[in-house]
Amino acid sequence: MAACEETKKPFAITVDPKGGNLKFVWAFKIDKAKALRERFDAHKVRGAVIYDANFPGCPHCHTNQFWICGCGTVVCWHGQKHVTCPNCGYSGGLEMVSSIELSGGGL
Ligand SMILES: [Zn+2]
Ligand SMILES: [Zn+2]
Repeated sequence: MAACEETKKPFAITVDPKGGNLKFVWAFKIDKAKALRERFDAHKVRGAVIYDANFPGCPHCHTNQFWICGCGTVVCWHGQKHVTCPNCGYSGGLEMVSSIELSGGGL
């Protein structure tokens, strides 16, 4: 489950788990009712994030950078220091961000 901070719209990211890391493969628009029904938000995001070469970025605002909220939502990031999670309402400074640093090796 992911959300666009700019448009406040949800979208989904297809993730390919690779050795404990998360490889973002694809992103597509969803509507919120459908997302809830299919329980996308039951997934917890964990581990390092890797972007596939073909990963298209956010389908709403087309950014290729994201931060991961404590609630598990992947949120578009546009380089700002102050971020808001459209899902849980968290708002604050973004600590950039050892949790999504790329791990060496293992690819
Ligand atoms: Zn976006
Ligand atoms: Zn959140």
